[in-house]
Order: sequence, then C-alpha cells, then structure tokens
Amino acid sequence: MTTTRFAPSPTGYIHVGNLRTALMNYLIARKAGGTFILRIDDTDPERSKEEYVDAIKEDLDWLGLHWDRVERQSERLDRYAEAADTLRKMGRFYEAFETPTELDLKRKKQLNMGRPPVYDRAALALSDDQKQALRAERGDGVWRFKLDHARIEWVDGILGDTSIDAASVSDPVLIRGDGQVLYTLASVVDDTEMGVTDVVRGSDHVTNTATQIQIIEALGGTCPRFAHHSLLTGPQGEALSKRLGTLALRDLRAQGVEPMALLSHMARLGSSDPIELRADMAELVDGFDIGRFGAAPTKFDEADLFPLTARHLQTLPFNAVAGTIAEIGVPDHQAEQFWTVTRDNITTLSDLQDWWRLFREGAEPVIDDEDTDFVREAMTLLADAPFDEATWATWTAAVKEATGRKGRSLFMPLRKALTGQSHGPDMAAVMPLLQVVRARENR
Ligand code: GLU
Repeated sequence: MTTTRFAPSPTGYIHVGNLRTALMNYLIARKAGGTFILRIDDTDPERSKEEYVDAIKEDLDWLGLHWDRVERQSERLDRYAEAADTLRKMGRFYEAFETPTELDLKRKKQLNMGRPPVYDRAALALSDDQKQALRAERGDGVWRFKLDHARIEWVDGILGDTSIDAASVSDPVLIRGDGQVLYTLASVVDDTEMGVTDVVRGSDHVTNTATQIQIIEALGGTCPRFAHHSLLTGPQGEALSKRLGTLALRDLRAQGVEPMALLSHMARLGSSDPIELRADMAELVDGFDIGRFGAAPTKFDEADLFPLTARHLQTLPFNAVAGTIAEIGVPDHQAEQFWTVTRDNITTLSDLQDWWRLFREGAEPVIDDEDTDFVREAMTLLADAPFDEATWATWTAAVKEATGRKGRSLFMPLRKALTGQSHGPDMAAVMPLLQVVRARENR
C-alpha cells in the first residue's frame, strides 16, 4: 500500500518550502488511497520544541492536510539503537574521534590540493588500544557508516535517472559523540519499518538519499521511490532561504491567504500544469502527477496568493462566511445582502471590515474640482437614510433631470462622493447598506 510521510523537525514554524513537501506527499498518498504519516523528527532534544509540534499540527489542520497517524522519532530511539548494533556487527559502522577543528583542517588541505573534501577514513586504521586511548582522552567518538565505494543509482520521480559516486561522499555520521542518533539513520529505520513507499523531499536531500539507499540496503530494507523537488526561490530567482522565516504558513494565514488559494498554488507551482484555483482537495488530488514537476528552481511570489484568495472568496456561498460577517457586527437582516455586495470587491476576508465601516460611518467623499457644484446639487436631491433598493434609480433620475448629466459623468462623481472609490459594487445594491453619506454634510 502506498505510504508517504511528511517529516518536519519541530525546530521552527513550517513555511511555504515545507508545505511543498507536505503537500506532494499528501497528494500521492490520497491519490493512491494510501496512508499519510506525520512524522515528527525530534531526535535533537535541544532544538526540538513541543510548541512547534503543536504549531505544525495546527498549520496542517488549517490547510486540511489531515494525517492518518503521527510518529515521533523521540519515542523510537531503541529501534535506532538496534539498527546501529546491526550495522556495527556487519562491520559497516566505525567510531571516529576527530574534533571539528581537525576535520576542518583536513577539508582545507584537501581543497588546497584540488581534491573533494571527503572524510579520509583515518579512523578505520585505529587499533583497539588507540581507540581506547582516544576515548579516555576525548570521550566517545562519533559513529560513521562505511559507504561501499560504488555508484549509487536511482530513478528519481522528478530528477529522472540519478547517480552519485559514493567515493565522492564522506561516510555519514549517524550517531554523535553524546549518543544522539542523527536523522540520516533514524529516517531510514522509520521509512523501512513503517513501509514508506514514496519519499518526496527537497533537492537539498539528494546526497542524503544516496547514503540512505546504502544504509537501507545494508539493513535489508526495501528502498522507497524517491523524488526530489526543486527548491523555491524568490520572484527574481534569488535564494529564499533567508526569507523563509517570514513565509511561515501562520504569517500567510494572518495576512488573509485562504487555504485553497495556497494549496492550489503550491500543488502546481513548478509543474507543467497551469496554476488554477481548485474548489477542494479532491480536485487537487485528482489532477496531481509528480512526474509533471521540473528540476529547475521554482520561483515563488507570495503576491500571487492574493488574486487566488480573492477568486476563492468569490466562489463562497453566504453560509461559508456568515460567521465572519456576524463577527464584524453586520446585523442578521443585512448580512446576506452585505456579502452579495462585497464578495467581488475584497481580496481577503479582512477587507469585509473596511466595507462595513464604510457603510456604517460613510466614506470620506472624493469630489473632483469640476464636480463640486454638481455633487452639491445632487446631495440636495438625496432623501435621508435609510435607503432602499430603489434609492439609487430614483435619485440618479432626479439628478439627471436637474443637471442634464447622464452616463458616466452622472454616475461616477456620485459613486466617488458616496464611497470614496471609483470602483466597487453596484451602487443600487450599495444604497440599502449605506447608513451615512458624508458628502451630504456640506450640502
Ligand atoms: N526532518 C527532515 C527535514 O526536515 C526530513 C527529511 C526527509 O523527508 O527525509 O529535512
């Protein structure tokens, strides 16, 4: 059965880059009728925080990316220890004692000689006595996985045929000196034991994949299908990594971005399919095909999320927004009319508040110089609020009669005088909601 997982480390809020990974894994699982696991990669007790675990769940919930079960790496440490023992017994695991400074020096020397900075496996030559002495002096060493120096190949779901020469990669450290198991091993044990069939993650993990394939094989597991999506860049192609902190899902939510807008965008961005607003998750699932994504860096511009949000809001029936409309204080008997009038004239739901304020308090009138007398005269012909559906037609007919103006030169100055804007909803529908006309104050 198809099983995928989204495996965030709870060391911060998840952002659009993480969302891409989560969504692709989610869609693969749902399309195949499989299982989607939320795996919390919390082997690092110092950096992992419970508040981020909660925040990750909250963000995924908001988007409707529901998981079938949660797994936590911190609860599976015994499984990783067992796998480490197996590798030790097989002779694929060795202890190394170099300090970070020593490793750094080695790397610099290699680079100076024009060689790739790959760990030289000096620790493999240590005798038991030497190890004993080093352990006494420096404490426990790190444990490295001994790569088999062969070419590692896989057919990547996005990158296609991929191959990495294991000799160009350092033997990965899987256990730190303080005993902490690192992600590279934990992830492999989990993927194998949980029957993960498909792993989609960012292309920054390509080298990890090469080493993980060898670890999986050493432990006798079956490799999942791997796919590596390109990393997101800013609209100009600039690295997004520094800005990702401000592109947290909760920030976008606070700015009024709607889940379906974000999902519709992220499920197609970087693929050969056009980005279109989808009505619901089922539509996204239907149209999803990982093979349609390209390897080139993908430009992301958060500004694109707002037109999609506006379009999504236009599709909503009144009952979907009734709660929000009640919250901002629109009385029940006007609520549906309020939505009909505003729905095509908002970008995010928070714009509703501005409309309601405008209706309740009146807008600062905008009156062009050449229209001053015209507007003043028109205002003398406007009855007192409350207005009704007929007010606009009756009033503009009277103004036309009195001034001789018609068409745009009749309607536009009145719209601007009443709403302060040259665009907006149908004025006949606006009138019954409008409680104050500030332009009347200087009649
Ligand atoms: N915790 C890892 C990360 O956030 C997971 C990578 C993976 O999907 O294997 O990068």
